[in-house]
Amino acid sequence: MSTEPGEVHRALRFQGELLKAIDTGQLVLHFQPKVRLADYRIVGLEALVRWTHPELGLIHPGEFIPVAEETGLIIPLGYWVMQACCAQQAEWKALGVDLMPVAFNLSPRQLRDASLPGQVAKLLEKHGIVAKEIEIEITESSLVEPMEMAQHVLNELHEMGVLIGLDDFGTGYSNLSQVRELPINHLKIDRSFINEIRTSKEVGVIVTSMITLAHSLNMKVIAEGVELLDQLVQLKTAGCDEVQGYFLSRPLPPEDVLKLMQQRTLLPQ
Ligand code: C2E
Ligand code: MG
Ligand code: MG
Repeated sequence: MSTEPGEVHRALRFQGELLKAIDTGQLVLHFQPKVRLADYRIVGLEALVRWTHPELGLIHPGEFIPVAEETGLIIPLGYWVMQACCAQQAEWKALGVDLMPVAFNLSPRQLRDASLPGQVAKLLEKHGIVAKEIEIEITESSLVEPMEMAQHVLNELHEMGVLIGLDDFGTGYSNLSQVRELPINHLKIDRSFINEIRTSKEVGVIVTSMITLAHSLNMKVIAEGVELLDQLVQLKTAGCDEVQGYFLSRPLPPEDVLKLMQQRTLLPQ
């Protein structure tokens, strides 16, 4: 975390106020579409948490997730996110919307909690939705040794039918042979690679190799942080399956993403 005095002050303030924010409904979810490159169909959504602070306005997770991780508040926060995703899906289902899987991000701490799969099962049942209507995203930092508990939790979720993605791929220390041992359905190539895909020949080669390797291990590949048409075209040429990014859509509040879900496709303009 930064050591700028103003930011330290803000972080301390968040630390003091976060639990109340969770309990009093100040958190909201925005949803970003995942688009399949073969036909530009929206095939999934990612839920991203925001804090609607009564005085400071909308706060992005980069500012408060690290605080939540440090204090352990990530456990109640993560639970709030899971139940909010399930409740949102139930609401859309009641409206007769054709559901697509909603992915939520899991912190390393949540992945080390043996009760997590049971909690997920209860939430699914409570809200009347099925495992394939949710997805989880984990990061490589969840996969540091000792990995037994994380592996156990992932296996249980996988057996329940929950799809699992590895987020920010390429930024940590996991490698594909380690990933192969885990029930990972898709890799999400980190935004930093996508940023440079047009300007660096080496990065282009790395991304193409990641896609080829992932496919040979039967994993789907998603590119995150796609901001330009050129990047999208290059990813499509390299065989990437799905993209997510500002070029097609920013993360949106539920009412706006609903319109996109009903429209079903997001063509590059
Ligand atoms: P992430 O899971 O890798 O999510 C992608 C982030 O990139 C999101 O930032 C999204 O708004 C942003 N993004 C999407 N498309 C573009 C693009 O084209 N360009 C750029 N520059 N950025 C793009 P956000 O919402 O601020 O979230 C940041 C991180 O906070 C997430 O990264 C995730 O690690 C974490 N996070 C968000 N929600 C949750 C949550 O519910 N639980 C946990 N544990 N972490 C969360
Ligand atoms: Mg993510
Ligand atoms: Mg990511």
